[in-house]
Amino acid sequence: MMQHTPLVDPFARAITYLRVSVTDRCDFRCVYCMAENMTFLPKRDLLTLEELDRLCSAFIRLGVRKLRITGGEPLVRRDIMTFFNAMGRHLDNGTLEELTLTTNGSQLEKFASGLYAAGVRRVNVSLDTLDNDKFARVTRWGRLDQVMRGLDAAQAAGLRVKINTVALKGFNEDELFALVAWCAARGMDLTFIEVMPMGDLGNEQRIDQYWSLKDVRARLAERYCLLDLAERTGGPARYVRLTETGQKIGFITPLSHNFCESCNRVRVTCTGEIYTCLGQEDRADLRAPLRAAPDDDAPLVAAIRDAVADKPKGHDFDYSRQRADGQVSRHMSHTGG
Ligand code: SAM
Ligand code: SF4
Repeated sequence: MMQHTPLVDPFARAITYLRVSVTDRCDFRCVYCMAENMTFLPKRDLLTLEELDRLCSAFIRLGVRKLRITGGEPLVRRDIMTFFNAMGRHLDNGTLEELTLTTNGSQLEKFASGLYAAGVRRVNVSLDTLDNDKFARVTRWGRLDQVMRGLDAAQAAGLRVKINTVALKGFNEDELFALVAWCAARGMDLTFIEVMPMGDLGNEQRIDQYWSLKDVRARLAERYCLLDLAERTGGPARYVRLTETGQKIGFITPLSHNFCESCNRVRVTCTGEIYTCLGQEDRADLRAPLRAAPDDDAPLVAAIRDAVADKPKGHDFDYSRQRADGQVSRHMSHTGG
């Protein structure tokens, strides 16, 4: 039962989707995401598992129907299964429609069946290449065989897998068709993500890596018949179906602003900051109200409502609020992609 009026922003968009980062830590160091010698936040700054539970449960009471857990790498957070199991109660009583996660796949061998038991039915696994050496280069610390075992475990457990691939010029351009065919053979959908200039990675040449998804799409159209799907998730993704394979292919252009009018989501970082727009710096602290009143969610709910009341109409809407180069200074591992 919904105990509060639902969250609706000033532009009449209902907030039904929450992405929560549960850690800034990761067992990989993907070149576009983290510096190799990342400094992580002190543990006391992170929301505890109990605080994460209170936070997510409050959002669900306010009408959130879909919860995506991310990071950093969510599955390296200690005891994270306690949290997934606890969220399962909202699935059981029907207040939450979907509990899902975005993961690099490294820990899925260990956790896939537990995730399924907690009520998770779909996972997004990030994977940019099928080549062992290239995988080691792009993730710095990752091993492809470990992720492959994770994928096997996920599918064996009954989880539907979607692969997320960052489109990187000169890196995985030559694997476009191999990736599509590999996903088709395993019954997995595939989404390409345009690389975003996030964080401060010093000398990493991110702009040189930019591969436009318009080009990815055009290349796909040379070999396949692309059927545009009307499907909208309220996020920055557009989908097509490849007539030949029946596969769904997504394109995420995070910095494009043509989806803002249907934006149904907010993000919360692992320190409890709510970001109401991926492309803006607008944020508010939810950790202070959580910690100020451990037995009373009223201050938390008030802070959530205030933040949603200030949700920007969209990014690129007001250029004066953004840095000229469109760069957002926070890391994806902090806001959770
Ligand atoms: N560690 C998990 C993973 O890799 O799936 C979850 C967190 S990760 C930050 C979420 C997604 O953000 C991944 O698909 C990753 O490829 C993507 N990502 C990270 N940095 C990015 C960037 N600079 N541009 C575009 N996507 C990025
Ligand atoms: Fe870790 Fe995911 Fe960032 Fe790669 S993209 S470093 S796996 S958080």
